[in-house]
Amino acid sequence: MKQFSEVAVVGGGIIGSAIAYYLAKAGHQVDLFEAGQVGSGSTQAAAGMLGAHSEYKAFGASLHSFARTSQKLYEEAETDIRRLVGIDIERRTGGLLQLVFTAEEKARVSEICSLEGVTWLDQTSAEKEVPGLTKSILGAVHIADDVHVTPAIACRGFHSAAQMLGARIHAFTRVDDVVNEAGWYRIQTSKGEWQADYAVIAGGVWSNVLLERLGLGTPFYPVKGECIAVTNTQMPLSCSLFHDQHYIVPRNNNELIIGATKVRDDWSTEPTFGGIQTVMEKARQMLPEIEKMPLLRSWAGLRPQTIDGKPLIGEHPEKKGLFIAAGHQRNGILLAPVTGKMICDLIDGNAVPEVWTKAFRVNRLNIGEEVWI
Ligand SMILES: Cc1cc2nc3c(=O)[nH]c(=O)nc-3n(C[C@H](O)[C@H](O)[C@H](O)COP(=O)(O)OP(=O)(O)OC[C@H]3O[C@@H](n4cnc5c(N)ncnc54)[C@H](O)[C@@H]3O)c2cc1C
Repeated sequence: MKQFSEVAVVGGGIIGSAIAYYLAKAGHQVDLFEAGQVGSGSTQAAAGMLGAHSEYKAFGASLHSFARTSQKLYEEAETDIRRLVGIDIERRTGGLLQLVFTAEEKARVSEICSLEGVTWLDQTSAEKEVPGLTKSILGAVHIADDVHVTPAIACRGFHSAAQMLGARIHAFTRVDDVVNEAGWYRIQTSKGEWQADYAVIAGGVWSNVLLERLGLGTPFYPVKGECIAVTNTQMPLSCSLFHDQHYIVPRNNNELIIGATKVRDDWSTEPTFGGIQTVMEKARQMLPEIEKMPLLRSWAGLRPQTIDGKPLIGEHPEKKGLFIAAGHQRNGILLAPVTGKMICDLIDGNAVPEVWTKAFRVNRLNIGEEVWI
């Protein structure tokens, strides 16, 4: 028997969950379909840094506003989610300390030193901030606004709040096809067929399967990231430490999350000996005392990457009412709220900055224009 929905969201990672939340908040009837457990994809592997400033180079000056908007939306979402469903997404302030070991690195970070809330600390001041920090640095950049959340809990917060606002969450329900009918979409799932006015594909790196059927090729490839966690009862760490895409992120439960490698085109989700060795070595360079901490666990996840490093967010060029939101690579946790709100605004016909819609056009990679690497 066919069932009806207004908006069908495919994928229950942080992106699909945030989309469901903003749509439900705006009064839409949402059905979210997730092949496995909600939040079990790349989202559960993430460290949860909201690094709008530390990722300045990746976004570029023109898209920095996109990341900053998302960082700010987290503040509202945190309060709203707590009010609606009593979940604390563990948005932990304290910021991020980006370590600088060489004169060349110091020259590179100079462009972010003028940004709001960013302060240069010499080695002595940085060590005061983080006792036990390596003495081998020239200094560090403290970024007050680059806070972090616990990704699995933030994802649960978004979809539980969406559910409270009327969204229906269908876990263990795989979407096998999204077919454009006259003015509506047929959503074929492993548990039957749905009819929806709008469809949003937010399936992370696995979105390729549906996108290929919809004429958008296979724009995503995995970049595997390996991590470990240790227990820290030895030293207070109020901020994340970051250097050369490696990091140590403190959680509320005394765990330190240590990551991450970048292995292109590897679909496996088991951490390797070599990968773990790399993240351990990088962590020890930042915080030598870490080698004394008990090892808790290791894991790996797949970042959904595109060739130009930007996500695809927007409407299919020919199929009206069909939207894509995937490919957020290493910044999907950070960008979830702004992506959710942007999809909602596009469906509602609200204004969205042109620089965003242009940068994230969903067919830009097929037609081979504007490839930024
Ligand atoms: C080690 C590591 C560290 C990271 N650290 C950070 C960080 O500190 N900060 C940050 O911002 N980002 C970080 N990221 C990146 C972030 O995790 C991702 O960008 C983000 O989780 C992507 O979310 P998503 O919802 O698009 O994908 P996913 O979380 O992968 O969710 C997609 C979901 O869609 C489902 N799905 C796919 N196809 C279908 C279908 N046909 N039917 C039904 N369901 C389907 C999948 O089962 C999956 O659950 C990190 C990633 C890794 C691997």
